[in-house]
Amino acid sequence: VVIVGAGQAGFQAAASLRMEAYDAPITLIGEEPSLPYQRPPLSKGFLEGKQNVGNVELRPDAYYRDHKIDLISGSEVIRINRANRSVELRSGQRFPYETLILAIGSRVRKLSVKGAELDEVCYLRTLDDAIRIRQRLETARDIVVVGGGFIGLEVAAVARSMGKSVAVVEAQSRLMPRAVAPVISDFYQELHLGHGVQIHLATVVREIAAGQVFLSDGSAHKADLVIVGIGVLPNVELAQDGGLTVADGIVVDEYLRTEDSNIYAIGDCAQHPNPFAGQSTRIESVQNAVDQARCVAANIAGRGEPYRAVPWFWTDQFDIKLQMVGLSGGSVHLVTRGNPTSRKFSVFYFKEDRLAAIDSINRPGDHLVGRKLLAAGTALTPDQAADERLDLKSLQQQA
Ligand code: NAD
Repeated sequence: VVIVGAGQAGFQAAASLRMEAYDAPITLIGEEPSLPYQRPPLSKGFLEGKQNVGNVELRPDAYYRDHKIDLISGSEVIRINRANRSVELRSGQRFPYETLILAIGSRVRKLSVKGAELDEVCYLRTLDDAIRIRQRLETARDIVVVGGGFIGLEVAAVARSMGKSVAVVEAQSRLMPRAVAPVISDFYQELHLGHGVQIHLATVVREIAAGQVFLSDGSAHKADLVIVGIGVLPNVELAQDGGLTVADGIVVDEYLRTEDSNIYAIGDCAQHPNPFAGQSTRIESVQNAVDQARCVAANIAGRGEPYRAVPWFWTDQFDIKLQMVGLSGGSVHLVTRGNPTSRKFSVFYFKEDRLAAIDSINRPGDHLVGRKLLAAGTALTPDQAADERLDLKSLQQQA
């Protein structure tokens, strides 16, 4: 097996193959020079200096030797030769494969305004990006964060906790609009404002120049550091050049296999049929990367099962943990359980009266039960969700 991409999905595919007792050669090829690492801490504890490189590495060096995983770091695969089943590195080196797993992830969307190329403008995706931002945070005083999504808000919370002046600029009319309901966006707006973060909604950057960021609402902010988190784009070019079908991602079936039965695609780069979305979709999350890797490893080991893991996500900002389960997009009926002013509540999302997702703020119990209810397809009505006297666990037990 050759695995292209040594992020969370690629690493997990190699590790799970060995756990499946797959004993043929495994080559794991990564573009970055480092050992495979976890990304979630990069916008949280790592930026704050609470974690270091050793803490974010998924496994130490010895793991790859001990498990006979041939890790090739700092190497870019530039071509897939499907006719002779091999991949080619930029160096010209070739690796033959029997099975190829594409775990090539996504890359940051770039800001395209005047001044976006200036040195003080940073993106956060890789370990090197995080090291660079962490160094700059030591001396920076005024920070403008572009994008009020996960990256932007997690970074804003860290920077503000360090006492920096922070302004967040979000193009849409509310925070985290891609992922959560307005009630959650409002909660986060209050949270950030309460900590002294300035927020500009429905606003974009017009220009960055001479230590200032000029916004579309006419305001200007001093900035010695600009951190941009305006989403990611799936890496599909390698697959496309290899003649595979791509749409929003590399198109795979429910077994995560492309139209070439020797090639799988997993993680951020894969557009897959997802029972919780009710359609083909692409999911950017650690859970999806890990579970798709496990699914492909099982398929290669001959225990073929379709991918049907329950999607879940989380974000930590200041002292608040938001846990999300299911896919809320397209939900029409929303029910709040608990009271937002208590800083402990959940939003239940229903599509055609079926539970679709739950977002929980400081209510881990709701999240854990939600994972089980969604996995089992247990019926829950909006009235039951709203009734705090009903123990959700009892429904799960009945089911
Ligand atoms: P995102 O999609 O979560 O948020 C991007 C935000 O930028 C959106 O709210 C969007 O409306 C806004 N935006 C887009 N263009 C803009 C512009 N020109 N000006 C101002 N705002 C603009 O993406 P992200 O925050 O960049 O995160 C990148 C990836 O990392 C995503 O896949 C995300 O899921 C992942 N991530 C996840 C977590 C988590 O789950 N806790 C944390 C960090 C990153």
